[in-house]
Amino acid sequence: MKISVKTSDRTQMIDITSQVAEAVRSSDIKDGLVHVFSMHTTAAITINENADPAVPKDILRTINKVIPWDDQYRHMEGNSAAHIKVSLFGPSETVPLENGSLVLGTWQSIFFCEFDGPRQRKVDIRVIPMGTG
Ligand code: ZN
Repeated sequence: MKISVKTSDRTQMIDITSQVAEAVRSSDIKDGLVHVFSMHTTAAITINENADPAVPKDILRTINKVIPWDDQYRHMEGNSAAHIKVSLFGPSETVPLENGSLVLGTWQSIFFCEFDGPRQRKVDIRVIPMGTG
């Protein structure tokens, strides 16, 4: 299934863990793997801490410093910084599914990472059944 994510800033990390868990519930699959995939070249998926909201803020501050928006890029669209960030973060994450629950560590959340917003975005979520044996 696909979920929509509406972003409001040029760079932004949005916790989508609850939407992913909801997609898993609607699949009726209890054990396997959940694949979360950003269908964009300028938006990524990552897993990190959201218990302290300063963590995603620090990640964005650092990635924006390392990869500045303007840096004599050749890509005519003018958003090379976003493309580079997506290639570093990656477009997807895979999370184990056990007894209907995402197997995430205490501090782990699934983030949609906007690098060229604000935009309306799509995330593809697939639940792959696997035996537990
Ligand atoms: Zn581009």
